[in-house]
Amino acid sequence: MKILVTGGAGFIGSALIRYLIADTNHSVINLDSLSYAANLEALESASQSCRYTFEHTDIRDSDALGRVLGAHQPDGIIHLAAESHVDRSIAHPDDFITTNIFGTFTLLEAVRAYYEHLTYSRRQAFRFLHVSTDEVYGALGDTGSFSEDSAYAPNSPYAASKASADHLARAWHRTYGLPVVLSHSSNNYGPWQFPEKLIPLTAIKALHGKPIAIYGNGSNVRDWLYVEDHARALVRVFEEGRIGERYNIGAHEESTNLNLARRVCRILDELAPDPDIGSREQLIRFVEDRKGHDHRYAINAVKMQNELAWRPQETLDSGLRRTLLWILDNPAWVEAHLTDDEQPPSPLN
Ligand code: NAD
Repeated sequence: MKILVTGGAGFIGSALIRYLIADTNHSVINLDSLSYAANLEALESASQSCRYTFEHTDIRDSDALGRVLGAHQPDGIIHLAAESHVDRSIAHPDDFITTNIFGTFTLLEAVRAYYEHLTYSRRQAFRFLHVSTDEVYGALGDTGSFSEDSAYAPNSPYAASKASADHLARAWHRTYGLPVVLSHSSNNYGPWQFPEKLIPLTAIKALHGKPIAIYGNGSNVRDWLYVEDHARALVRVFEEGRIGERYNIGAHEESTNLNLARRVCRILDELAPDPDIGSREQLIRFVEDRKGHDHRYAINAVKMQNELAWRPQETLDSGLRRTLLWILDNPAWVEAHLTDDEQPPSPLN
């Protein structure tokens, strides 16, 4: 199949495209506006393939979307393009509204017009996978987990913008018959993640002996998913998920933010000991809590396991080691992303 991936130059999109090119026969059209979070270097290997094409396009540009769809004639869409950083959404919500809500609307409309002109047999095979987050479900107490039936209760501007986009995608299925499937994953981590997010930022600070900022008392709990496991799950949902359904994707790997930062420090102490820094855990500092900070997220991924036979391959320990080894193998990337600001990392996403 020829799949149009939006946001393919981002952290998860690039992992998805690397997987599609290396491990499947699908062709990929990567549509991305190249925001600050994009990194085409992460696609260096995939872009050597004749099954890969790039379109520098904004999902808010209806005419451009029409041209790209008409020129490439994709057999399906995997929609990841979004503003994705919770702290940025709290400071400056505007782009989250225009890209995540209006951009998704513009894309749905362009795809609807395109889909309605496909032949019957191509329509039968067509899929629109809308990629979302567990944050649309709000916060959990100390027990329980989010299922596909959990009610929506988004708390941050980011989560609210993703929830709005989910509702639009669902409505475009129910109202216009667009063959939409939705996925909700927990927090991702892995190579190439932009270092405003908790794990890469913690690792970079730890490697340089700089203070590691943790919100509140570090007791907020997140459920961690290795990005390559997410990429395999997305392809499974795209190929075999039932139209109109939603699928939760997670690895059942919960950790408090404090324990996660400690784990990162300990693994780096073992892999890259530095006598000048000593034990990196002593770099951890608590800073004022984030506004509206959700206490806990946890994903129940039983539907993915039972219906689509998907299971994560990495545990949090093995995935963290792979991620930190990648960071150690890429010192130029680390140097490029070291800043002096002491902004707290985002434990939400
Ligand atoms: P990211 O910020 O790393 O990448 C987003 C990509 O979208 C970038 O390449 C950016 O250039 C592109 N983009 C932004 N605005 C655009 C626009 N207007 N038009 C075209 N392209 C645009 O994000 P990510 O972490 O890879 O997340 C990808 C998707 O997965 C998002 O929809 C996010 O909500 C969802 N998600 C992320 C996580 C996570 O832990 N990172 C978890 C669950 C769901």
